[in-house]
Amino acid sequence: MLYLSEPQKRQIEAHAAECYPQECCGALLGEEGESGREVREVFPLVNRREDSPRNRFAITADDFRAAEKAAQQAGLELIGWYHSHPDHPAQPSDYDREHAWPWYSYVIVAVKERKPAEMTAWRLADDRTRFQTEEIQAKLGASARRGGLGAGAARVH
Ligand SMILES: [Zn+2]
Repeated sequence: MLYLSEPQKRQIEAHAAECYPQECCGALLGEEGESGREVREVFPLVNRREDSPRNRFAITADDFRAAEKAAQQAGLELIGWYHSHPDHPAQPSDYDREHAWPWYSYVIVAVKERKPAEMTAWRLADDRTRFQTEEIQAKLGASARRGGLGAGAARVH
């Protein structure tokens, strides 16, 4: 389960629309809890794939470090990545699977003629042969956040 608030969803969609017809990409910073992962910050990155930015994205070692540093500074974890699929469905490509890391959540947003469409989330299966769907839910309420997802005491089910 991936908890993503409406403003965060809109932030990803706006980034995707802005980069259209190229792919956008970015990192998701948040917290891992028993009931799922909660995105706390959307961290946009620049798509470095200059050879084929329409249907590829690349996260460089520098991007990775920048995202990890931002997470640390905010007291969060780097929990995933997002990118857009301009004029393609929000399904992971073979390229996506081959370049994915285990454990992280991968959010994909489809963009049709500059308009954001479907948004999906995925995690690489442990054997790395396929992606498994991860359900996206609107974020937990403020009362759940006060205790923190890790604290457990104030969690809302
Ligand atoms: Zn992709």
